[in-house]
Amino acid sequence: MIPYTLRRSTRTRTVRITIRRTGEVVVSAPVGVPQIFITAYVARMQKWIASKVALIEKRLPRDKVSAVPSGRRDFMLHKEEALRILSERTKELNQSYQFSYTKIVVRNQKTRWGSCSRHGVINFNYRLASMPDEVRDYVIVHELCHLKQFNHSKNFWDLVRQTVPDYKEIKKKLKGLTVG
Ligand SMILES: [Zn+2]
Repeated sequence: MIPYTLRRSTRTRTVRITIRRTGEVVVSAPVGVPQIFITAYVARMQKWIASKVALIEKRLPRDKVSAVPSGRRDFMLHKEEALRILSERTKELNQSYQFSYTKIVVRNQKTRWGSCSRHGVINFNYRLASMPDEVRDYVIVHELCHLKQFNHSKNFWDLVRQTVPDYKEIKKKLKGLTVG
């Protein structure tokens, strides 16, 4: 059973379920409606409530990574959407480079935003999907450019600069953000 807050009101004529932005479930009911009726109604609506709560949990703050819980449940909840968002954006940002990569993987990492293997596998921290656009794009471009330059040489940064001219500023911002 989903926990909920019951509000009795003389102004309400019907039993109504609302889900707050925090995910809290509130049931409003007229004063005279017996508890047993409310319990049965909430039980009947359980699937609907669960789907609404899940939707709200998906809408995480896009600019506050510290607000995102770092647990495994959160990762399970968001990894598919994160993979979709990050894959699409990687494809877009790679249009000018046309580098080839094997695949993209999202991970629940504590200390890194992204990495790239010599086999062309790009790893992204799933939290990157809810980061501000410029930060997300910078990390994607950074990993893309490692496909060509497996180092942090001047040539590497020149490649990054082609797409992210102000990468130095964004790098500074990224340092101020904590993972998880
Ligand atoms: Zn690097």
